[in-house]
Amino acid sequence: MGSSVETLEFQAETRQLLRLVIHSIYSNKDIFLRELISNASDALDKLRMESLTETGLGVDTSDLHIALEVDAEARTLTVRDNGIGMSRDELVELIGTIAKSGTAVLLQKIKEAEDAAAAQSLIGQFGVGFYSAFMVADKVTLRTRRAGTEAGTQWESDGEGTYEIQAVEGLPVGTSVTLHLKPADTEDGLADYLAGWKIRQIVKQYSDFIRWPIRMAAAPTAGGEPGAPDADAASATEFETLNSMKALWARPRSEVTEAEYGEFYRQISHDPHDPAETIHMRAEGTFEYEALLFVPSQAPFDLFSRESKRGVQLYVKRVFIMDDCDALMPNYLRFVKGVVDAHDLSLNVSREILQHDRQIRSVRRRLVKKVLGALKDVQRSDAERYASLWSQFGRALKEGLLEDGDNVEALLELLSVDSTHDREKTTTLREYVERMKDGQDAIYYLTGETRATVENSPHMEAFTAKGYEVLILTDPVDEVWTDQVPSFDGHRLQSIAKGQVDLDEQAADGDEDAEAEKARRDAEYAALLPWLTAALSDHVKQVRLSSRLTTSAACIVGDAQDMTPTLEKMYRAMGQQMPPVKRILELNPTHPLVTALRAAHEANADDPALSEVAELVYGSALLAEGGDLPDPARFTRLLTERLTRAL
Ligand code: ADP
Ligand code: MG
Repeated sequence: MGSSVETLEFQAETRQLLRLVIHSIYSNKDIFLRELISNASDALDKLRMESLTETGLGVDTSDLHIALEVDAEARTLTVRDNGIGMSRDELVELIGTIAKSGTAVLLQKIKEAEDAAAAQSLIGQFGVGFYSAFMVADKVTLRTRRAGTEAGTQWESDGEGTYEIQAVEGLPVGTSVTLHLKPADTEDGLADYLAGWKIRQIVKQYSDFIRWPIRMAAAPTAGGEPGAPDADAASATEFETLNSMKALWARPRSEVTEAEYGEFYRQISHDPHDPAETIHMRAEGTFEYEALLFVPSQAPFDLFSRESKRGVQLYVKRVFIMDDCDALMPNYLRFVKGVVDAHDLSLNVSREILQHDRQIRSVRRRLVKKVLGALKDVQRSDAERYASLWSQFGRALKEGLLEDGDNVEALLELLSVDSTHDREKTTTLREYVERMKDGQDAIYYLTGETRATVENSPHMEAFTAKGYEVLILTDPVDEVWTDQVPSFDGHRLQSIAKGQVDLDEQAADGDEDAEAEKARRDAEYAALLPWLTAALSDHVKQVRLSSRLTTSAACIVGDAQDMTPTLEKMYRAMGQQMPPVKRILELNPTHPLVTALRAAHEANADDPALSEVAELVYGSALLAEGGDLPDPARFTRLLTERLTRAL
């Protein structure tokens, strides 16, 4: 053709960036295709926009698409689009230099970075886009013709320091990028990018929702010699479209049907059921994004396993970036599935950068509020459906009480727990508060391993007798959050197995008769209690009189800051070393066993039988709350001897 070839040098920064890209910044080399397809898609968007506003462009926009072409013999992969294209000047400007502001500063920082990981996290802030082609190719040839112009340009480089530019005639409008592939090398993460299955897999993973069709010639020689020239295939080439293009989240809500949402949910979640809730939102302004989130109707089997993943995928302008985007959804909402498409992020953004990004954090806050709001709506409108959702995800939501300080009140509103009020139904805290007795100053609860042990625990006695409602909390996580959440709606949360409880005092504050009665009892037991405290000092830190018992002789309680026995057990089960927690033994001063013990102690404080009875009282109290005896064999022997003597 006689057109002159011009050799130009890459701008210094570009050269440095190229070196970084080629020399293994990215462990995942597959992403080069995502980058080239994303550029092609942008070019198609631009042509479409321009054809709408500019008349006389003279291009056919009826079949805008991206084509992937494999030439096995030449070992090339070409990404072709019929988009806007570039003029010669644009080409030099856009591909030969790094126009983005701040790149030089970035490169400086990368050079100063301590290690490869730090460098990688820095480069994640910038797209390397087109240059990623050099990860897999040792030569790249780009041919392009700007829409509305006649002249075509070819750009070619081995990525080393220079590139060649020359005019080419007869090019169609658009751009083709031809990669002369390096040999496949699995050790170096270089797959066989000539293989149809590999190309399909990458497109499906990263570019499935690109809005333009991505076509590839159907495999010409299925089962034949790879790389063998195939003469008849060329005459009857059939194209397959590799991507689904169905980015539901990018469409207005009003244009998407329930069935489409359901199908999309099933596709991304691999859950055969319909979602319970669908949240579709769009945020405009400085940081644009679309979110399409689903609350499943059933919890995944691995919701509580350590490997359980968060279900939110991150896209940038329809290009898949990552699964399990922990920066967008807190751990306790890991059951939420869906997609967030943020428009203004780099395709190479890393998890680390996302974690620290202010805007991403505000997106996350907003998404969490949306999810909790959607759950609240179900709670308000459909008790049955809510009960089912709670049974699936309630335990995970309770973790939020520990993780998500900002939403504790909202999460407490969502709680649905067993209570002594109604055996058949759970209650919310709000409902509990509405039923509280006059003068009741706390929300009472008791934790334990099963509903039965909690209900039959001696701690319940006075509360049941006096008609106070007690919440029954039996999830392991209940032991933990109740320790950390002080109150709901201004009402203290109070374990009935902790601290001093004086329901009489509460009901009749300042009642002189009651106070006189209490003083009399304290005097009666003034000798026994210190003696018992000493006798049981291996097991408890104090023995005192109780006002929470009506029928049992004794129970064991903790100080407000003491760990509950169930929690202690959980920590031990997790392998944590800790000293045994000593609690407090409370005695029922009107129980015949306790009065008899007092009389026996008054008669002969040195009687060896006394300390055995003390041990039996302590052991029985432990058993009554569902606890484990420190020495079951000894307990059984003492009890058997006592019974034998009594008969
Ligand atoms: P980015 O896409 O983030 O801008 P790239 O390195 O991927 O960075 O691309 C640089 C620029 O080159 C693009 O912004 C675009 O202007 C131009 N470009 C790349 N590929 C194409 C293409 N297929 N058609 C038209 N222009 C392109
Ligand atoms: Mg790009």
